Amino acid sequence: MTDLQSDDLRNAIQFHGHLCPGLSLGFRVAKAALRELNAARPQDEELVCIVENDSCAADAIQFITGCTFGKGNLIFRDYGKHVYTFFNRRTGQGIRISEDYRGFKGDERFPALKKRQEAGKDVSAEMQAYKMEKAATILHADEKEIMTITPIASDPPREARVRGSVRCAICGEKFMESRGRVKNGKIVCISCFEKG
Ligand SMILES: [Zn+2]
Ligand SMILES: [Zn+2]
Repeated sequence: MTDLQSDDLRNAIQFHGHLCPGLSLGFRVAKAALRELNAARPQDEELVCIVENDSCAADAIQFITGCTFGKGNLIFRDYGKHVYTFFNRRTGQGIRISEDYRGFKGDERFPALKKRQEAGKDVSAEMQAYKMEKAATILHADEKEIMTITPIASDPPREARVRGSVRCAICGEKFMESRGRVKNGKIVCISCFEKG
């Protein structure tokens, strides 16, 4: 159950650009993670999150938990799954959250709207109303109905390290050492390596 007037939610919507079902799911997951791991939104790298998708939900996770790409405590694994794993480095505690909202399935309105959209009809207002309704349902849902939280025992991924950079022999731009490729005996960046 979420307070729809909360600053957190308002700010997460602003960060993401719109309210949608995906953002709402990510918001619920992020809030549950902070609670389970006894963490506030960390300023440092206390929390680590592994996201297994890059949907709208990931934006809420970044905004609410403070796990971001830039800080190196958000790790993306492209598995296409709605699974989020969090670690608290301070306590060593870890949880896996599997999001499992079932409200889209069996709702005939979405395929019907899609069909009319494909036929050239302007359904944007109805589509928007549909999404807002789903978002509200998700924000109000009982947590157990939209996710499963399991404690995990494995160790958190290692702290983000600052790696050295080298200059590409072809374009002259700097890149992270570990991303170097060898082309005709020279160290080059991935973009140059993949060009012809
Ligand atoms: Zn979205
Ligand atoms: Zn290059």
